[in-house]
Amino acid sequence: MKYSADEIRAALQNNELTTYYQPQYDALTSQLKSAEALVRWIKPDGTVISPFFFIPVAEESDLIMDIDWYVTELVCKTLEKQNMMPQFPISINFSRKHIQEDNFAERLTALVDKYELPHSLIEVEITESAMVGEEERILDWIVSIRNAGFTVAIDDFGSGLSSLQFVKDIPADVLKIDKSLLSHNCEDEKERIVLESIFNFAHRLHMKTVAEGVETKEQLGFLRTCDCNRIQGYLFAKPMPEEDYLSLCMVHKAVEEPTDILQLQSPASAVNLLLEAVFRRYPLVIFTNLTRNTFYMMAYQNFTTTSCPSTGIFDELIVHGTSSMHPDDREAFATTFDRKNLIARHSEGAQEIRLVTRQLGDDGVYRKVETTDYFVKSSYSEDVIAITLCENLPDE
Ligand code: C2E
Ligand code: CA
Ligand code: CA
Repeated sequence: MKYSADEIRAALQNNELTTYYQPQYDALTSQLKSAEALVRWIKPDGTVISPFFFIPVAEESDLIMDIDWYVTELVCKTLEKQNMMPQFPISINFSRKHIQEDNFAERLTALVDKYELPHSLIEVEITESAMVGEEERILDWIVSIRNAGFTVAIDDFGSGLSSLQFVKDIPADVLKIDKSLLSHNCEDEKERIVLESIFNFAHRLHMKTVAEGVETKEQLGFLRTCDCNRIQGYLFAKPMPEEDYLSLCMVHKAVEEPTDILQLQSPASAVNLLLEAVFRRYPLVIFTNLTRNTFYMMAYQNFTTTSCPSTGIFDELIVHGTSSMHPDDREAFATTFDRKNLIARHSEGAQEIRLVTRQLGDDGVYRKVETTDYFVKSSYSEDVIAITLCENLPDE
């Protein structure tokens, strides 16, 4: 059944539109984290109409804008009811038409401020497909929303045609992975590779990830290994009326017991924990593919006084590395960590290469730093890989 724009407008005016809330949970701890507002049309006889039967019609005119703003106000009212209770951020769907709306961020600010709510509680969802053809405006639109303190999520990622090239330039906070990318049990090797790459891509761009439409334990298990942040789907909860959502928020806070994080570990999050211990001693860790002359660097704090790219060409890194070094140590450093030298030492059977140099600190004082390269073997290729650990030595 499809409704006409007039019928939908009448429903809006008669306050027959309302929002349901679908909770989102932390992928590892299963704690409630946030929710998405999803519009519903409740007929006077109690029938609940899905947005699929009226949103597409509303999208044909500016009616959709009125609906979205109406939903936003309902969300503010829900959050206001939680004034004395735990509040969780709520994301709201905005049609692509809002990209053309002048002063969108100002209007959102005015509305949210009317209810005296922190802006961090509101997340703006815009679907991936809305961005196609809007490349010019979308960046400014998103920046203005984020500058106002709201977060922005890209919805339905992977469902459309938008290119990774474009998404990488979008300064969004959250990437919502479309349910069409998840099969029932996530067993297919190629599907897993695609999903792993998407999560890796998002995290390296510092975006949080939400997996949508999660229905099975198998899907959840796999998503945990990808270090997915939040889960939304029938496995945990269906969209529910406001009243039920408010009760859920109360209960969830009440049962928040300390959980044993080690029992929830995914391989990816275990590595993150391990890194914290490694960083205690080695504030700089570099992964190098000596065969291909590339590196990837993880630094705990600004390790040297000169900043350095986190990925790039290894030969250039070595040149760069000498710039904040004591002049007397430069030659030894450049020879020892010369890529050809390292490869030669590796082929002679060396396990590790070590050198102490003096590095200039922010305070103008030279301190001893020990650099150790460990040769490691990847099961995926024959390339010569080295892991570099840099350690500050105590002053004498
Ligand atoms: P969406 O933004 O992708 O919302 C997620 C949809 O997936 C929701 O459908 C939700 O009920 C459904 N879903 C959640 N978990 C699962 C699951 O585990 N399995 C399956 N099969 N489905 C799941 P819903 O509520 O019918 O909303 C449909 C679409 O209508 C939304 O898709 C969104 O594009 C649009 N929509 C909803 N509310 C609004 C609104 O206020 N404004 C605008 N502009 N669009 C809205
Ligand atoms: Ca959505
Ligand atoms: Ca979606």
